[in-house]
Amino acid sequence: MEQQIKERLKTVIHPETKQNIVESGMVEKISIEEKKIHISLRFKKARDPFASKIRREVQESIESAMAGYAVIVTLREGEAPKQQPEKPRTMTTGVAHVVAVASGKGGVGKSTVTANLALMLRDMGYRVGVLDADIYGPSQPKMFGVEGYMPEAEHDTETNFDAIIPAEAMGLKLMSIGFFIQPTDALMWRGTMASNALRQLIHQTRWGTLDFLLIDMPPGTGDIHLQLINELKLSGAVIVSTPQQVAVADVVRGVEMFRHPQVNVPVTGIVENMAWFTPEELPENRYYLFGRGGARRYAEENNIPFLGEIPIIQRVMEGSDEGRPAVLNDSRVEEYYRSICEKLVENVMKSC
Ligand code: ADP
Repeated sequence: MEQQIKERLKTVIHPETKQNIVESGMVEKISIEEKKIHISLRFKKARDPFASKIRREVQESIESAMAGYAVIVTLREGEAPKQQPEKPRTMTTGVAHVVAVASGKGGVGKSTVTANLALMLRDMGYRVGVLDADIYGPSQPKMFGVEGYMPEAEHDTETNFDAIIPAEAMGLKLMSIGFFIQPTDALMWRGTMASNALRQLIHQTRWGTLDFLLIDMPPGTGDIHLQLINELKLSGAVIVSTPQQVAVADVVRGVEMFRHPQVNVPVTGIVENMAWFTPEELPENRYYLFGRGGARRYAEENNIPFLGEIPIIQRVMEGSDEGRPAVLNDSRVEEYYRSICEKLVENVMKSC
């Protein structure tokens, strides 16, 4: 989004220098906070006669491009003060691809899919981290059997940065909002507090070098989604749905959010979870409990990659409950996830 604002600001020209305000270094700072965009402009000359004209142009141009945001323009004069040696702002610089795992609504298996995708990508030889950002029901600590983990902070004197140490489980780096909240806190943590905590978890977690960081998003679409989209450069989004029509209807909103021109995150693909049920004693039979192929159809009709289906399998549920995701101990589940992950990797690479 910041880049988009910058591009827009390039159209504002200083009438005297005839240079655009970005290239001439007048845009000192752009920051986005909830529904506000702050832009700080620096005029080398004191009492520049064009200052208020430029301010108005900036305001109008950004307001019309970013509907729903209030734009606050601050003017400064003179040479910029000498910069302090910059503190690194984020520990995500070693992360090659951030992929959000989202769903239109809760209970469709988004967290289960995230955990199994992460382990399958690990088995394919990638370095993988998981950020559990589901503030309404963080379940990754349980899925990976690290519920009691208490993250510590470590000051790195070289970079002057306070890093938070992630849990290491099954070869993955794992950070969860669930390490910081109790289920009873959930209400209190919604909104601003959760969003501040998430910001810290994104940027301060010592992720190290990763090929993929998967984010278990909260269900639906909301402020937390926009915040995550703003804080991180997402390589793509995987959307999990069941075949039910109502679940698919919610997927549409998710897809629209990621595809919105101001968001512009490629939809890596849709996974249809709980696609059918096969009883152990009748392995050839498939029972389409939630309807048949709804998510696949939606994907095909809307030109969205379809990554694959996962049936209802008891081991999947038990694996999540026991802290050992099912790709680790069920060859059928492994097969489904391998095929999904191969397409996922291909699509992420294609879109970057
Ligand atoms: P969400 O993150 O979308 O709220 P969860 O991943 O918590 O959903 O899954 C909801 C429930 O469904 C959990 O009990 C989980 O174990 C179970 N589940 C998810 N996918 C499957 C599947 N393919 N087969 C059987 N149970 C599943």
